[in-house]
Amino acid sequence: LDEGTAEGVRAEMHFPMCMRNLHENLKRTHHLKHFGRLQYGLFLKVLGLPIEEALIFWRKSFSGHTDDQFIKRYKYNIRHSYGLEGRRANYPAKSCQQILMNDQPGPTDSHGCPYRHFSHDNLQMALLSMYSSQGLTEADLPEIMHTVRTEAYHVACTRVYEITHATQNVRKGNGIGSGETVTHPNQYAEASRALEC
Ligand code: SF4
Repeated sequence: LDEGTAEGVRAEMHFPMCMRNLHENLKRTHHLKHFGRLQYGLFLKVLGLPIEEALIFWRKSFSGHTDDQFIKRYKYNIRHSYGLEGRRANYPAKSCQQILMNDQPGPTDSHGCPYRHFSHDNLQMALLSMYSSQGLTEADLPEIMHTVRTEAYHVACTRVYEITHATQNVRKGNGIGSGETVTHPNQYAEASRALEC
């Protein structure tokens, strides 16, 4: 996940748009607000990021903070999300349904689902900026935006998965495997990673 390593770039290639957006905001602003940290942090945990590496990752990412500020403001919550503090619950990562329906983002937030929560203009710009290196072109936008207008956000996300994995023989209708549509960001990332194996 370190932006300076090939491994980090490759990892990001497998992320659905909600997580790419959080990752890019974190890189740009060196901060995420509470629900952004929660959405992204639990996704990374379920993806397999161990607590020790999670603490290093968040510490490096929040480069505008002193060690003391980081420990006081964020360390407890990161450990908490790994079930190491408080109730010691093993919190699952949020599903698409939860991301779409709960904790609606405000204008300065970066959590949520871009297909639902971005303006249509911003969504199209972000799709091209994030995915043109993975084969998405302007010609793909009308179909994706039509799906977004019918509020079938997970179908739009699935179509983007198909387009960006076309070089790995994923075709329209294949979805993330066996025709399945995206219902969870981790399922998207796992399906993408599995294609590399
Ligand atoms: Fe993320 Fe789900 Fe939205 Fe795709 S449909 S961007 S996985 S919340």
